[in-house]
Amino acid sequence: MHVFYDFWTAAVSWLAGHVIVPTLAALHLAAYVLQPREIAQYFLLTAVQVAIIAFVFRPLESLWPAEHWPDRQITVIDRSYTLIKLFGVLPLFTYLVLTPLFGGGSDDDAAGLVSVQGMVPWLGHHQVLLFLVYYAIYDLVYYLIHRLQHGIPWWWALHSLHHSQRQLSCWSNDRDHYLDDLLEALIVAGVSLLIGVSPTDFALLVLSGELLQNLGHTNVRLRFGSVLEKVLVDPRYHRLHHMRVDPDRPQLHACNYAFIFPLWDILFGTALFGEPAHPTGVGDPMVDADNQRGIVAQQLVTLRRFWGAFRRRAGWRYGEVAFNVNYEPVSVKDFDLHELESSHIPLEASSPSTREVELCR
Ligand SMILES: [Zn+2]
Ligand SMILES: [Zn+2]
Repeated sequence: MHVFYDFWTAAVSWLAGHVIVPTLAALHLAAYVLQPREIAQYFLLTAVQVAIIAFVFRPLESLWPAEHWPDRQITVIDRSYTLIKLFGVLPLFTYLVLTPLFGGGSDDDAAGLVSVQGMVPWLGHHQVLLFLVYYAIYDLVYYLIHRLQHGIPWWWALHSLHHSQRQLSCWSNDRDHYLDDLLEALIVAGVSLLIGVSPTDFALLVLSGELLQNLGHTNVRLRFGSVLEKVLVDPRYHRLHHMRVDPDRPQLHACNYAFIFPLWDILFGTALFGEPAHPTGVGDPMVDADNQRGIVAQQLVTLRRFWGAFRRRAGWRYGEVAFNVNYEPVSVKDFDLHELESSHIPLEASSPSTREVELCR
């Protein structure tokens, strides 16, 4: 671990000194940016991540695909999502919100209100174990967020954009609504601060977590084997989470919410192993229509979906929903989701007698 840290620190220093500082100076921005090392670290992490997706995961999809597609047309938008998020949205968010939260980024003041190191000082002398504990907590927080993203209709309105993709590929991890990203990042960063994760550990958590999630979305026929697949999420595991509704087993797709450790699904009874890959996407025609839109339209329509749910009581009632033509969430208990998918006709607006009393009235 120490060798890795030393190598990483040297690479960050080189990039900061040779690229970031001269670039900022040339742009006359040096006076405004106080943390060239932070910027260098971020861009290095991002470049490593994109290179691994493009040069490792993407070739795997050609060599050994889980699903054969006639073309990759609808994966292109997800690649744009990844590049925009990694090189544009995340740096802005990190420097405007996370850096002030982390107090300028010093690794020495990694003390949270409920610091793990404070509670178990012994872990302070075992950096790898401490990192694994952080990793487990980080992943548990993601698991709980993910359950809520599926269970709370207004949050599903946002998260459903991620699920509308029918060609799930190595680029799909970052296909999200930006409001959803913001909520997630604030919660995860908040918990990390609370338990005393240092900025460097946080960066490593994010990079390795993201990479595993990129692999999890990759269209590759890869399983880690019957033992390891229960320890780490593999591509088949997350592909099952993205499955479209199975007409014979309509609850089967409510599975595999964990991003890194399947342990959380096993503990909470939501794990699904040994199932062959299913087609991915959503049954709700109102959400599936995302596949015909560009990024800007997807973001705007998803926001309408969110607002349609957020302002209604039904948008706060826990459970799986689809959206009618007025963006009202309708519980899947009230219709056959599979039939809705095969008809490809969105749900009609509810009649005035049964219509929800809107919260805003
Ligand atoms: Zn999901
Ligand atoms: Zn996913």
